[in-house]
Amino acid sequence: AKQNGKNNVQFFTHELDSQMMRKSQMEQALKKALDEQQFSLHYQPQVNLANSKVIGYEALLRWQSPFGNVPPSEFIPIAEETGLIVPIGEWTLRQACRDSKEFCALGHAAEKISVNVSARQFKDPDFSEKVRAIFEQEQVDPGRFEIEITESVMLDIEQSARIICELKELGLRIAIDDFGAGYSSLNVVKNIEIDTLKIDKSLIDEVLINRRNLFILAAIIEVGKNLDARIVIEGIELEEQAELLQPFGILGQGYLFSRPLPPEKLDAFLNESEYV
Ligand code: C2E
Ligand code: CA
Ligand code: CA
Ligand code: CA
Repeated sequence: AKQNGKNNVQFFTHELDSQMMRKSQMEQALKKALDEQQFSLHYQPQVNLANSKVIGYEALLRWQSPFGNVPPSEFIPIAEETGLIVPIGEWTLRQACRDSKEFCALGHAAEKISVNVSARQFKDPDFSEKVRAIFEQEQVDPGRFEIEITESVMLDIEQSARIICELKELGLRIAIDDFGAGYSSLNVVKNIEIDTLKIDKSLIDEVLINRRNLFILAAIIEVGKNLDARIVIEGIELEEQAELLQPFGILGQGYLFSRPLPPEKLDAFLNESEYV
């Protein structure tokens, strides 16, 4: 048994070594990714559950790396740890502005565009000034854009609250992402005036496991409505889920309606959805 244990340790350290190797390779590759234009944005439609009409879309970062497509769940944490998320985040916002002009030119001027911003970007006291400059340089109206943040901005609530006020003054909307997934979700809405509550996928998944969870979901939706926030349920995959949620008069996002799409496919999807 002792021998076995030792082998396990060796196996484990070996495994750990190769994980660290992949991480450090990825870090090196991430540093070059912006210069080598390996990023792009895909857009996932958000729909009104009452009539399936598209009301907006969320920009989601995609990285075509030398290792193939690496999912954001793998590279975003590394980008956050290394601070690379700061220039990557600026690129993302600028690219979303540029794409929005293309969408306008194709006749899609009305929908909202959501962009994810990491808490790490809020550590920069001049963040809102940088955002303002990007919209000005790109000649795009911030009124069409929403910034998605998570409860992790609460780590520095004073600075975050100031930056959020400044962003709102620019005309941007604020969404709380992954609501209900963490511990301090309610703390966020107590401290920040939000426009949109994005309810985490785990909550709708739990409803299918046990219908009683629908009461919890309904209570959270009620909180959002009392805060005058738009409500988006994330990760709707099944018709059954959409039907359960329909009476609530809220918005939804998920594979049931569409996967995140590259800009040219989004155009085709939006054209179709006008006929729903
Ligand atoms: P998120 O902001 O919560 O984005 C929603 C994620 O759920 C996306 O994954 C989306 O593709 C996925 N999703 C949407 N509908 C469904 C569904 O019906 N079923 C399932 N299983 N998944 C669904 P993605 O694109 O892999 O992004 C993962 C996370 O990476 C995002 O979660 C966000 O936290 C982060 N991320 C992505 N793009 C950016 C970015 O530009 N900046 C920052 N800071 N983070 C980003
Ligand atoms: Ca998001
Ligand atoms: Ca989310
Ligand atoms: Ca998430």
